[in-house]
Amino acid sequence: MTDIRDDAFAAFRELFGHEPDGLWSAPGRVNLIGEHTDYNGGFVLPFAIDRRTVAAVAVRDDRMLRVASAFADELVELDLAALSPGALRGWSAYPMGVAWALGATELGELRADLGAVPGVDIFIDSDVPVGAGLSSSAAIECAVALALNDIWRIGLDRAALARAGQLAEHTAVGAPTGIMDQTTSLFGEDGAAVFLDCRSMESHPVRLGFAEAELSLVVIDTATAHDLADGGYRERRASCELAAETLGIASLRDLDADGLPRAREVLDEVTFRRARHVVTENQRVLDTVRLLTEDGPGGIGELLTASHRSLRDDFEVSTPELDLAVETALNLGALGARMTGGGFGGAAIALIPETEESLLRVAIDGAFAEHGYSQPDIFRVNASVGARRDM
Ligand code: ADP
Ligand code: MG
Repeated sequence: MTDIRDDAFAAFRELFGHEPDGLWSAPGRVNLIGEHTDYNGGFVLPFAIDRRTVAAVAVRDDRMLRVASAFADELVELDLAALSPGALRGWSAYPMGVAWALGATELGELRADLGAVPGVDIFIDSDVPVGAGLSSSAAIECAVALALNDIWRIGLDRAALARAGQLAEHTAVGAPTGIMDQTTSLFGEDGAAVFLDCRSMESHPVRLGFAEAELSLVVIDTATAHDLADGGYRERRASCELAAETLGIASLRDLDADGLPRAREVLDEVTFRRARHVVTENQRVLDTVRLLTEDGPGGIGELLTASHRSLRDDFEVSTPELDLAVETALNLGALGARMTGGGFGGAAIALIPETEESLLRVAIDGAFAEHGYSQPDIFRVNASVGARRDM
């Protein structure tokens, strides 16, 4: 079997002329439920998927940092002495941003001494679709973070590596995203989702039981552009902050359903709907965890679908393509379906009986063709293990 690990190994040797010291990989993720709750100190329930980004890495005897990817034509190099977030551009800001973040004071005492560590060569390959809302960004960050943590013998724990990935994305890439993606990529387990309280940062695995219930979780990647560094995401975050500030609470985590009537009085109509999404979504995450734990996955479908409607109508981050994917799946007998990820494009998920998988494919292809939308990529995902050293 050839897979991306073999590819990354071979491509590294070809490009750099020597073998890598090791291979490290980290998965993308699907967020089962809990969208736009992370930066509001709320709850999320993502799982790591069986699609991974691999970093083949070797230490150098000088201080150069060199990164290349199967996804990019260029080899990017930088002297470690010149490593700063402002010096980073394009895709290389992800791996190089992580290298920088591992030495940042935000990480506390146990951090890399970037004035002393040796240079490294890094080659990246991946089968996580890029820009599909499956967090190829966290996958690349976490694979590189784990690799450099080993190679540079820093000794950071996984929670700190998640923070390094997030810091890279904030500071070097300029995307103010939450900590969910990195946490999932680092803490994922086979067959389980990661319940994460984004305020306390406590997380624990929640068994999904899809296979036992003969259910498939299918991703429908609409291949429509989204750019979280862009305006829409910032605007939604700003609305949530405005809502919390107006209500005199630290974050929307502190608002519950009982507080919504008052929120409706003091917030403008749009800001109220944004807040209502966050409040109801937090509750849906808790309900999903309870159902999964007590009864298995059979009953969670309605919560998934309610999440989609809330994202579409209250938070307004869905798109016609995502809505079409969701409605088509539901018409075909999906237990539930929703857009996943930040929205403005990207992917939807549907929970369907295993036996319906090929029918769903046909129905979605047909519906998209009928609307003149380009064909989505449709594939099943399984909850998989988090970042690890592979070689
Ligand atoms: P998502 O995380 O949903 O896939 P993002 O826009 O957050 O989308 O991150 C995608 C970006 O991350 C790409 O445009 C690229 O810059 C970088 N990236 C992700 N995976 C790779 C890879 N394997 N090789 C090079 N760059 C990558
Ligand atoms: Mg991303």
